[in-house]
Amino acid sequence: MIIVLRPGTGEKEVKHVEQLVLAKGLKTHTVIGEGMTIIGCIGDTTSVDSRLFEVEPCVEKVMHVQEPYKLVNRAFHPEDSVIDVSGVKVGGNHLALIAGPCSVESEEQVIEIARAAKKSGANLLRGGAFKPRTSPYAFQGMGERGLEILCTARKETGLPIVTELMSLEHLELFDEKVDLIQIGARNMQNFDMLKHLGQTKRPILLKRGLNATYEEWIMAAEYIMAAGNENVILCERGIRTFESYTRNTLDLQAIPVIKSMTHLPIIIDPSHAGGKWWLVEPMAKAAVAAGADGLMIEVHNDPANALCDGAQSLKPEKYDALIQAITKIAPVVGKQV
Ligand code: PEP
Ligand code: MN
Repeated sequence: MIIVLRPGTGEKEVKHVEQLVLAKGLKTHTVIGEGMTIIGCIGDTTSVDSRLFEVEPCVEKVMHVQEPYKLVNRAFHPEDSVIDVSGVKVGGNHLALIAGPCSVESEEQVIEIARAAKKSGANLLRGGAFKPRTSPYAFQGMGERGLEILCTARKETGLPIVTELMSLEHLELFDEKVDLIQIGARNMQNFDMLKHLGQTKRPILLKRGLNATYEEWIMAAEYIMAAGNENVILCERGIRTFESYTRNTLDLQAIPVIKSMTHLPIIIDPSHAGGKWWLVEPMAKAAVAAGADGLMIEVHNDPANALCDGAQSLKPEKYDALIQAITKIAPVVGKQV
């Protein structure tokens, strides 16, 4: 249930209505927007009579929210959420350009790629230190040493870092060192992990599960927000379909759908979607044209010898050309770069 207050409602009246909600055993989530204030009521509202609030002079209307997702729901927060990642804004009219290798392989590799990507316009650096691999015999990532290398690259370039959290045992370490904590597709419904993400205020990049519906995906975001961390960015990275020519199928419809359902930013990862480097450019352009809040792209200085995902990685020169094109598309859809 949401209670919309009349424009100009004062702090005292807001508090009064909040008290009425709390007295019904519900929790409140108040959003003070530019033109209006909304009090979201969280909990079982089925037996609550909305007239209790409607009689208050400052209340404009009371609406029941049928959907199971509340905190992520656009009805609770009509304006786009803008998430601050160590000074880089994501959402609204901002465009996040995340680039870097699939996996951290060495200090030289990451720093070389980070410098090139930054020169091209990237504003965040990615790199996997703990890797979720299908095979236990494949390269599993450099672990804590990989994270140290990312921190060195951040120091060298000033780019905030994005890396995947694979296990809760590293949450404290990530809270201390990582600017944007990635939850990979395979952990999207690791509910225990999602609940613990309320222990950090670091922004979370929540990738869509391989076969998750929109609702399952945003309910996962709801878990993180309900645990106390409201800084969530969604990332579409392709879903499983019957098509096997591409690694996954990029669901660009997710952009407008997610934006209608939620107020959270949504970015696109065309690298893991297509699995082929030459699909990255057209899909990245289409994503920005469709209103994506950012792109996460794998860039490697030597894709042929990459330890992971070389086939879908762009060389720095190709990334540079892509960002030049993106720079032209972005203003057309109201994004600043
Ligand atoms: C990644 O971005 O490094 C990754 C493993 O992606 P996903 O979880 O989407 O497969
Ligand atoms: Mn990868």
